[in-house]
Amino acid sequence: METAPLKDAHGRVVRYVRLSVTDRCNLRCMYCAHHMGLGFIPHDLILTYEEMLTVLDLLAARGVDKVRLTGGEPFVRKGFMGFVERIRERHPSMDIRITTNAVLLAPHAARLKALGVGGLNISFDTFNPETFRHISGSSLYEKARQGLEAALEHGVRVKLNAVAMRGVNDHELPEFLDFAQKHAVDVRFIEYMPLGGRGGWDEGRFWPADEVLATAQQYATLTPIEDYHGKGRTGPAKMFSIAGGKGRFGLITAVSCHFCADCNRLRVTSEGSFRTCLFSDSEVPFRDLLRSGPQGIKEMMRQLEVAVQAKPLGFQLLQQRDRQEAVIQRSMSSIGG
Ligand code: SAM
Repeated sequence: METAPLKDAHGRVVRYVRLSVTDRCNLRCMYCAHHMGLGFIPHDLILTYEEMLTVLDLLAARGVDKVRLTGGEPFVRKGFMGFVERIRERHPSMDIRITTNAVLLAPHAARLKALGVGGLNISFDTFNPETFRHISGSSLYEKARQGLEAALEHGVRVKLNAVAMRGVNDHELPEFLDFAQKHAVDVRFIEYMPLGGRGGWDEGRFWPADEVLATAQQYATLTPIEDYHGKGRTGPAKMFSIAGGKGRFGLITAVSCHFCADCNRLRVTSEGSFRTCLFSDSEVPFRDLLRSGPQGIKEMMRQLEVAVQAKPLGFQLLQQRDRQEAVIQRSMSSIGG
């Protein structure tokens, strides 16, 4: 098996894969373009767990040591916990993370802790059930809240992510800061990103990170944390400690301030495509190759190497965009957030 790291033309090495286990979701968030009536991918076109494990084996052999399981909503796919267990069996030292809306999380929190899942990114845009309904089209706020509480209770590391939206959840910033004061979690505001094609993006709701920060500073004393990810590790979040608080506050400046130079990510979509950059719609479909035996798999890996070599600097694509339009045609739920 080939073991050389997957390196691109800018010297970046792929070490982190975001694997979407399903495009289905139990919420219809306004920023995710589900409400645009996009159909779901038929089951037989979605990779089986067995196929996903094969892909992970191949990527791990090339130096990928971190996987984030995402979707759609990963917990809506049948057998998801069994899949997490199998990854842990095959890759004892793999850093396994999960991104979830927490609606179905509560019963699984203890098991995730026992499996050594390194952290959960919980998407949580509001503390108000009515606003939750407005954002997600769903009345499942209490379930999400229970999932969040269960994760905290069982000591799973939590990052709480809220999409920053002007006129939607901007007035709740003090509550988010209060939550970070009281709990040992990272509360992060993500800039609303232009995804989802025509109609799925509303520039008027964009609330830039510098404005979020200026507002947050009116409510709390924030001190920048320089080395958030530990020695030699970098990532997209700008983090701040909160005076007198247990947790931290942060901003993911996906739009206003790029972090492409450090990007070590590869996305694998649920229907079996590699995607080397969130902000580029260019994908390498590999499902048919994966399903056609050893020669196909060899060809799949060759195509991945070519795609990684050409991994773009996404901020250049963002800069070129027309600001009224989405830069990416697909929604986050279909790419794998
Ligand atoms: N269902 C899971 C969840 O809710 O966390 C995983 C998938 S969801 C698509 C992953 C993340 O993408 C969520 O944190 C969501 O808030 C974020 N997201 C989706 N569309 C976005 C957009 N247009 N701008 C910013 N964040 C977005």
